[in-house]
Amino acid sequence: MFAWLKDVFFYRIPAEHKVPFESEIFRTNILSAKITALVLLLSSLVLAIVYIIETDYGHILFELIFITFFILTSVYYLILDRLSKNVDKYLRTIKTISCIYVELVLSCAAAFSAYHQDNAFCGILYMALVFVFCYCFYCESVKLLIILGISQTFYLLVTFLKHGISGTLVSSAILTWMYLAVSYILSRLSYRRKFYEYITKAIIQEKNEQLSRLNEELTETNLQLKKLSYTDSLTGLSNRRHMNEILQKEWERCRTEKRPLSLLMIDIDNFKALNDLFGHPVGDDCLQQIAALMKHILDDTGAVLARYGGEEFMVALPCTDESHAYNIAEQLRTGVEKHMFAWRGHGSEILITISIGVASIVPDDEYSIDDLILSSDKSMYVAKKSKNKTIVLPVQKVEKRQTLKLIAKP
Ligand code: GH3
Ligand code: MG
Ligand code: MG
Repeated sequence: MFAWLKDVFFYRIPAEHKVPFESEIFRTNILSAKITALVLLLSSLVLAIVYIIETDYGHILFELIFITFFILTSVYYLILDRLSKNVDKYLRTIKTISCIYVELVLSCAAAFSAYHQDNAFCGILYMALVFVFCYCFYCESVKLLIILGISQTFYLLVTFLKHGISGTLVSSAILTWMYLAVSYILSRLSYRRKFYEYITKAIIQEKNEQLSRLNEELTETNLQLKKLSYTDSLTGLSNRRHMNEILQKEWERCRTEKRPLSLLMIDIDNFKALNDLFGHPVGDDCLQQIAALMKHILDDTGAVLARYGGEEFMVALPCTDESHAYNIAEQLRTGVEKHMFAWRGHGSEILITISIGVASIVPDDEYSIDDLILSSDKSMYVAKKSKNKTIVLPVQKVEKRQTLKLIAKP
C-alpha cells in the first residue's frame, strides 16, 4: 500500500524515456492547451468587462487581474503557437512557460474564488481549473505539487485576510485541500497509465522494426541462396538445375507461341588429356576461359548458357530456328578455334577445340524436352567423331530405354 502510494504520488518516468515521452505528450496536448488558453482568454475578457461595467462587483484589483490575465493568456497562446511547430527543439521552453502560465492562472483563480466565497461560481471556476490542469497538463510530480501548493497558499491567504481565523477558513481549507489531493492523485494515475501505453507502443514499434529488418535480411539471404543454388561455382555460369528450369519454362512458352526452341550441346575436345598432362588446375582454368569466351560471344543473343556437367556446356536458344541455331553454334566453335586455346609443356602441346550438337523443334504434345536434350546429345556425339565440328540432327523421340541393372562385384 505504501509502495503504491509512493508510486502514485511521486511517479517518475525513467530517465531514458523522459524526453521522448514528454515530446509525445506535449505534441498531442498542444491542441487542448491552445483551446484551454482560448477559453480562458475569452473568460478573462468577459470577466474584466463585467467587473468594469458592474460597479457592484467593482474591485480595482480584480479588474487589473483580469486585464493582466487576458494579456498573459494572449502572450502564452502566441508563444505556444510558435513553439509548437517544433516541439522536440523547444520542449524545455514550452514546459517552463506552461508551468509559469498554469501557476498564474491557478493562483489568480484561487484568489478570486477565495475573495468571492459567497459566489458558488467562483469556487467552481477554481476547482474546474485545478481539475483541467491536473488532468490535461503534464508535469513532474514535484512541480505539480509546488504549483498546487502556491495557488492554495493564495487561496488560504485571501480567505484569511477576508474572514480571519474562522470557521469559513477551516472548512474551505479542508475542502480545497481534499479536492486538490484527489485531483493530484487522478493526475498521477492518468500519467502513469499514459506512460505505460507509450512504453508498450514503443516496444511494439521497436519489435516491428526488428522484425521487418530481419525479414529484409531473410529475403536478401534467400535471394543469395537461390542465386548460389543456380550457379556453377567454377565458371559462374548457370548450372544444370537452372538450365532444366529454364528449358521447362521456354518449352512451355514456345509451345504456346508455336515458335522454335533450339538447343546446343557442347563438349570440349581432348579435355582429359589436358588434365592428365598439366593437372586439374590447368583444366579448371581452361573451363573458365572457354566459359567466359562463349558467354561473350552469346552476349545480346537472348541465349542461356549453362555448364551442364564436367566439360560439357548447354545453350538454350528460345525462339530460334535450326539454321539460326547452327549459325550461333558455328560462331561459338570458330570463336574457340580462333582463340587458339593451347597449352604447351612436357614436350607436348594440347590445342583445345569444342564439338557441338544442335537440335531444334517447335514444341508440341508429341515430343518432350527429353527428346530435345537427347537429340542434341546425339548430334554432339556424331560431331565428336571428327571433333571441332557442329552437327545438326532432327529431333527424334526417345526410345524406351532398357532398365539397367547395377551389378556389384563380389
Ligand atoms: P573427348 O575429346 O572425346 O570429349 O574426350 P575428353 O577427354 O574431352 O572427355 P572425357 O569424358 O574422356 O574426360 C572428361 C574429363 O573432364 C574427365 C574429368 O576428370 C574432367 N573433368 C570433369 N569436371 C572437371 C572439372 O571441374 N575440372 C577439371 N579440371 N576437370 C574436370
Ligand atoms: Mg564429355
Ligand atoms: Mg570432352
